[in-house]
Amino acid sequence: MERINVERIMELASEGLCDRCLGRLFGRAGTGLSNQERGRSLRISFTLLLEEVVESNVTGKKRERILEILKHLPASHYYEKEEKCKLCEGLMDSLDKMVDLVLKSAKTVEFETFQIGTRVSEEIREREEEIWRKYGLKTPEPIGKEINREVGKRFSEITGAEYSKDKPDVVFILDTEFLSVEMVIAPLFIKGRYRKLKRGIPQTHWPHKACGGRGCPECNFTGKQYPTSVEEIIGEVMKDEAEAVNYKLHGMGREDVDALMLGSGRPFVMELSSPRKRKLDLKALEERINKSAQGMVEVEGLEYSSREDVQRYKSVRGKKTYRVRIRSLQGEIPEEKLKKVLSLLPSSPIRQRTPNRVAHRRADKVRVRRVYRAEVEDVKGEVATLTIVGEGGLYIKELVHGDGGRTIPSIASALSMPLEVLELDVLDVEAEDEKEE
Ligand SMILES: [Zn+2]
Ligand SMILES: [Zn+2]
Repeated sequence: MERINVERIMELASEGLCDRCLGRLFGRAGTGLSNQERGRSLRISFTLLLEEVVESNVTGKKRERILEILKHLPASHYYEKEEKCKLCEGLMDSLDKMVDLVLKSAKTVEFETFQIGTRVSEEIREREEEIWRKYGLKTPEPIGKEINREVGKRFSEITGAEYSKDKPDVVFILDTEFLSVEMVIAPLFIKGRYRKLKRGIPQTHWPHKACGGRGCPECNFTGKQYPTSVEEIIGEVMKDEAEAVNYKLHGMGREDVDALMLGSGRPFVMELSSPRKRKLDLKALEERINKSAQGMVEVEGLEYSSREDVQRYKSVRGKKTYRVRIRSLQGEIPEEKLKKVLSLLPSSPIRQRTPNRVAHRRADKVRVRRVYRAEVEDVKGEVATLTIVGEGGLYIKELVHGDGGRTIPSIASALSMPLEVLELDVLDVEAEDEKEE
């Protein structure tokens, strides 16, 4: 210490701070000490110095003032009465009580990693800032930060849970004014593949067009355009098992409402918000979903996943295998010519202007996509069944009928014959390299 400034020490000692609050003001001084140890040392030093001053030749007002201060310093001979800390009002003495509060909340949720956040009252924050200003302090630690650390340390010792700086399973937010704990629970991600075995089911929740999802007599006040969705069929069961608040399905692309999703299924990630449980028996979950889906949807290969997978699934365009049933609007389909047309498709890029049917939700532009493989399965008069393997983003219906010249080339234009799509099913979705849309 440079020259001992008795005035400053008198000032600090008369603030009436507890050891922790005093020690915290000098957060960076004396490494290896806790705030409490640092504060206790400071208070003892203050006591010794001030007693020495009072017992020397100091008189009058100054002597009276120092005696008054010493009454409040526990280590002093003149100590008279215990008082609550003028900054935290005893809050820092109730750390164990705060730990108990967090422990009680923690019993209601599964987690391995955690963080503590603390909200202190406005009054305490203001008093704290006033003291920082008054002494021009450079390195004080805010009271909330000390509570986070101290409560977190004890909580971790008791539960064995690990503190996580980046991605905790749960953040316990301690309100020291109202002695309550609020939990912010990280979402749980589960990935897998789904098959859609019935037509007329959208991939995700689709709000009723007429009422915008608010609910009306026409939709029986469900707010839904379709009775259910792949998202709902899988998500409701997962939500129930994980005791989550809500769910959201992120698919690697999507099939049309009236298309089936067959073969090995489409990759998806389900995001479950605020789950109370995160250690699920995924095999049993899979069985439960498949049982409750009653043949509409099937899932397989459930695994734990992450937000990174969601990002990846969104940027990846899946290479897809389709089975499409087409019908000629102008007599029988010539099988040999159809075979020839399909065999030539992979050699020419398909230029597709945004189809009329999706123009309301996608920008109007021309996309170039490839057909990797196209084959005839069978032809019966006006109806043919084809297998087409295409790049992600290829519009199959438009590839068939040409969309009024917006897709070039098309099977209809190559055959010089108007065609319509009767059924379109997805047989397989495979991840391709990441691409820009
Ligand atoms: Zn205090
Ligand atoms: Zn409605």
